[in-house]
Amino acid sequence: MNMTVKQKLKDRLGRAAEMAGLLRRDLRSKMVVVTFHRVNDWMEQDGITCGSAKFEAFCNFFRTHFQIVRLSEQVAGCRAGRFMGGTLSITFDDGYRDNFEVAAPILRRLGLPAAFFVTTGFLGTDYIPPWDRHLARQPGWMSWDQVRALRDQDFEIGAHTDLHVNLAAMEPSAIRTELTRCRTKFKQELGELPALFAYPFGGQENISTCSIELVREVGFQCCLGAFGGVNRSGADPFHLNRISIGGWYATPHQFALEVLLRRA
Ligand SMILES: [Zn+2]
Repeated sequence: MNMTVKQKLKDRLGRAAEMAGLLRRDLRSKMVVVTFHRVNDWMEQDGITCGSAKFEAFCNFFRTHFQIVRLSEQVAGCRAGRFMGGTLSITFDDGYRDNFEVAAPILRRLGLPAAFFVTTGFLGTDYIPPWDRHLARQPGWMSWDQVRALRDQDFEIGAHTDLHVNLAAMEPSAIRTELTRCRTKFKQELGELPALFAYPFGGQENISTCSIELVREVGFQCCLGAFGGVNRSGADPFHLNRISIGGWYATPHQFALEVLLRRA
């Protein structure tokens, strides 16, 4: 992949910070959640698509610099007031089929936990979301069988609404209906209700106070955005930030520099 001048510079600065020992000291105080969308080698790399070698390089970097834990462990730690600095959890949004076919085998080989946030209304369908309409070949969604297989492989499955809606633009009754429909499908297909929730789109403008309250009220234990940023240990589980790894970060050291510069 060709790196931009900016990406190259950030990669170099990240490497320099690592050599100076800054990274090691800094990362210990931050709780990080990263998110991926697609991991495969047949699509062009873009904002939400990451090649398998790059994905593995990031995983190895995470292993070297953080204690990789389950997202639910970070959430439980925050709730209990335990120190969670230096931990990182890996998440995936939307429910793309390559999560099962490409990412999960790499994670299993490396022995790493992860949480997969699935859009229940997309699973097992040919639905093409607006952001994928330009693609000549569709990446496709996982089936519920594949999601169950991930669960049985000890990965965590979280909710990403039923139809990937913008909750901040909806009336409370519609939000409740959307969340409940998603939870009901979890119960039917996985035999249990989901505890983890990640906002569709995940920008600050997609997250409203009202929707956070409803997410809490229907029974979730956390809400995750995707607009970047790190968390301090003991952060409110209903206001967790995530860093999205796609085309934005060309290398793990560029990502590391970003973490270093962010205040928890
Ligand atoms: Zn999404």
